[in-house]
Amino acid sequence: MSFQDEIETRCAACAESFEAPVWSLIAGDDETLRNQIKARECNLLLCPHCGEAVMPDSPWIYYEPAAEILAFVFPESWSGDGARWRERLDGDLAKMRSALGERLPADLEPEVFFGQEGLGALLEAQDWRADERDVMAYYAKDLGLSVLKVRPSWARARRVPSELPFRGSAPTREALIAGLRELVAANDRLTAWSEFLAAYEKDAGAGVPPAAR
Ligand SMILES: [Zn+2]
Repeated sequence: MSFQDEIETRCAACAESFEAPVWSLIAGDDETLRNQIKARECNLLLCPHCGEAVMPDSPWIYYEPAAEILAFVFPESWSGDGARWRERLDGDLAKMRSALGERLPADLEPEVFFGQEGLGALLEAQDWRADERDVMAYYAKDLGLSVLKVRPSWARARRVPSELPFRGSAPTREALIAGLRELVAANDRLTAWSEFLAAYEKDAGAGVPPAAR
């Protein structure tokens, strides 16, 4: 569920102040707001006095549990003031932990952005990976492979696919390598998986990636 706050802000063009509602917490299942972030227009206001676009200096949080994304978006002007944004982050995180309890994974590392460009790019990359994943799932099904759903935050941090095909009934290292080999042999454009396979084979000590909850 998303929440709004009423804030007072000042227009840089005409110097008049005005009050307006802005989003303080955005749930990732709200498609309209998610698209506004991708357009880098979330919380963009229009000055009621002169009509100029105003981006208020108001921090907000984006939370998408399924993708394990918890992002703090601070005003760009805060980027040089570490004490200010860290205090805000710690306070908001504590509030979220008490409200959500165990629904907020204890090891979920918040992402910090100044301005929404970085989060917009993250969401675009996530959508791109989802499209690729659909193609992978089609081939995996066709080949009779099983699929391991990996923890999204683990996969995102390493820039590897969050779903990995494997041959057989248990996702062991050998089963993953066998499944990945079959997949990339069937479609050589699934480069995210062929790159993961190459690195995984090379790293003899790499275990099985952590499964999604
Ligand atoms: Zn104005």
